[in-house]
Amino acid sequence: MSWDNVKQRNPQRRYVTSKLRHALDELTKNDVKGLSRIDKVYHKVDDCMALVNLYQCQDCGMLHFDSALYCKNKLCPICAYLRARKYMSVLVPRFNRMLKSGYKINFLTLTIKDTKTLTEGLNILKKAWRYMTDRDPFSKSTFRKMFIGGIYAIEIKKGKYSGLWHPHIHLLVVKDHFSKDFDLIKGLWEMACQKVANTTDKIGSVDIRGVKGKNNRYTNNIDDLESITSAVVECVKYVTKFSFDNFSSFDLLELCNNLYNSRLFSTFGCMRESEDEDIDNDYKEVVKKLVCSNCGSLEFDSVTSTIDKCMNVEVRDFDKQYLSDKEVVDGLTALMEVLLKKEYEQ
Ligand SMILES: [Zn+2]
Ligand SMILES: [Zn+2]
Repeated sequence: MSWDNVKQRNPQRRYVTSKLRHALDELTKNDVKGLSRIDKVYHKVDDCMALVNLYQCQDCGMLHFDSALYCKNKLCPICAYLRARKYMSVLVPRFNRMLKSGYKINFLTLTIKDTKTLTEGLNILKKAWRYMTDRDPFSKSTFRKMFIGGIYAIEIKKGKYSGLWHPHIHLLVVKDHFSKDFDLIKGLWEMACQKVANTTDKIGSVDIRGVKGKNNRYTNNIDDLESITSAVVECVKYVTKFSFDNFSSFDLLELCNNLYNSRLFSTFGCMRESEDEDIDNDYKEVVKKLVCSNCGSLEFDSVTSTIDKCMNVEVRDFDKQYLSDKEVVDGLTALMEVLLKKEYEQ
């Protein structure tokens, strides 16, 4: 992990903990019960990187970032960013391979009508997805013929004006040939939503999404490394970045209760690989040598600290020598770095 990436996100982490702290205080004052989950989330995010392992160069004294205890909570801006990097490093090359082999890629959004509670919205969304891709034999075979694989990401939002919850699914799908199947997927999704919500009203809808491609131009054609990188960033950012500004204390409580044990991201079909089971786990870097980036020395003493203390002293990343290229997994391409940085700047 890179120290600079982590350090830049620490102020956001503190912002999130202050929002959670404020929500907890307000809810307690109003005698709201059932605060154990939000309380846990608050403590987790507050404790993220409370233990940081550093190595101090024996020759020049320079401190280097080695590792830390991460909270891994979905609401933690540091952990969310690291998770986004991990997803990117795995998924962009996978999609790019498909593109190069002649497959087509589409970006779709599956929505449902806004709901009063997040639980209700997530429930319909997840059930409809399962109905369409698995439970209903006709839908399942139609879906699998259309899309041979892809990634699925749930974004949780509140409607700006309605004040209602608006969870929806972003889909990046792979097709083995070009076909006009928008009406077909639209029909499947609408039917699935009606079935699981037990209504005859039309509550589901589907949009085709564009992404920023070459020269920052908006495009529906995802057909080169630039547009595929941009599409994957779009997809992963929804599950790894929450906007807290328009959330009330009650909203935060609802969010914390619903995020627990809830899967917001997955891969399917040809985009699925066995390693995805632990896509959330850290990669283990196998490093041959750690080198002082200040003086080149190889001798260090180990020091423990906290992220907040580290903010006030100079800490650097090691110069690392790896055993093989395969282990340099944290190294995203320059393009991925730029696009991710843009999305996670604030
Ligand atoms: Zn964290
Ligand atoms: Zn040194």
